[in-house]
Amino acid sequence: MSIDEARRRVLSSCRRLSPREFPASEALGLVLAASVRSEEPLPPFANSAMDGYAVRSSDVVSVPARLREVGAVMAGDLPGAVAVKEGETARIMTGAPLPSGADAVCMVEHSHLEDGWVVVEEAVRAGTHVRPAGDDIEAGEEVFVAGDQLGASHLAVLAAIGAGSVLAYPRPRVGVLSTGDELVSGPGPLPPGKLRDSNRPGLLAQLRADGFEAVDLGTAADDAAVLARRLAEAAERYDAVLTSGGVSMGERDLVKVVLGQLGGQQASWLQVAVKPAKPLAFSTLAPRGTPVFGLPGNPVSAFVSYELFARPALRYMAGHSRLGRPSLRALSAEPLRRVPDGRLHLVRVILWVDGGQLSVRPVRGQGSHQLRSLAQASALALVPDGDGLSAGDEVEVWVLDEGPLAGGESWAPSQP
Ligand code: AMP
Ligand code: MG
Repeated sequence: MSIDEARRRVLSSCRRLSPREFPASEALGLVLAASVRSEEPLPPFANSAMDGYAVRSSDVVSVPARLREVGAVMAGDLPGAVAVKEGETARIMTGAPLPSGADAVCMVEHSHLEDGWVVVEEAVRAGTHVRPAGDDIEAGEEVFVAGDQLGASHLAVLAAIGAGSVLAYPRPRVGVLSTGDELVSGPGPLPPGKLRDSNRPGLLAQLRADGFEAVDLGTAADDAAVLARRLAEAAERYDAVLTSGGVSMGERDLVKVVLGQLGGQQASWLQVAVKPAKPLAFSTLAPRGTPVFGLPGNPVSAFVSYELFARPALRYMAGHSRLGRPSLRALSAEPLRRVPDGRLHLVRVILWVDGGQLSVRPVRGQGSHQLRSLAQASALALVPDGDGLSAGDEVEVWVLDEGPLAGGESWAPSQP
């Protein structure tokens, strides 16, 4: 089965989470489920864009013009507190309300004082250095639409228009369970024959980096009854569940068996034409239709399988419509070797930009157990079935870490 086919299979069983109200301060990264309208104009009143003098433009058609100062307005003063009549002016600061009668602001730099008069040296037209009410956002205007993801600037806009809460899709809460009798957690001496659990910390971190809520469910033994209980419990509690291990052809690969029993018709055990990350067990489980991803045990396979299947599904549940990673074309600076096996190979590569040109080279250690190379890689190169690619060939890459796209130059001060 192709990646696309497997993805379609998974995505067709996932549902968007039910939207709810979130305080704007907690909404960073969420996707809106309804449009946002501003009830207020922004700016809320006509105000000055400069420190200077509020004037009637008709008074300063010919310059220099001598005007009588009748007061001053500061940011925070009541609009309308000062009035400017013919031949008059008022000192005004940036953000202060434009006095009634005035229609323009002359910069303080273009004025001077002379015998107690204010002398305006430059003619200003009506509206000069004035920010009209609603210049940014009009009252009643739609500022965001459903599907927009809230970034820092969106939160600033929400604050500016006094929107205290938004209707948005929640972050999926995802339980992560490792399976395998060989696994131990944390530091400390390693008992003979055992292996440290790296998938669970890795997957928890992937989830958090992607803006989801990750819940550590610990490890489970390779025991069908134990697995059945843990999976059923997790499916009741969380929006989605990730397991790793127990989905290949081994005698103790019980996740696929148990998921098949619990999920019945809904369960599938997929062989995806990709390397790494070939096997995937997937099912939705009653009573809530919770998607459970039985990811492979090999560390790189678990990571890649999350990227290929779980991440897009969780993004869908969280309201996103762009589900994948940025896909770009790069030149391979070195050969990307492989042999034909009917599968798409996802090769861990280092990505760099030079004069706008993307290039990649493979990292050493492409086995599905070779975790360190994954930490060195910034992208996955898609090497199609066949004899591989030569140096200088173009290749599609999925960017995992956008850092290298910033280019080679560094703005950091050099350390003494
Ligand atoms: P399995 O599919 O359960 O046979 O696992 C495949 C390989 O991945 C085996 O070498 C396991 O020891 C290894 N593995 C499984 N789970 C983990 C894990 N949580 N952390 C690190 N390696 C694992
Ligand atoms: Mg196992």
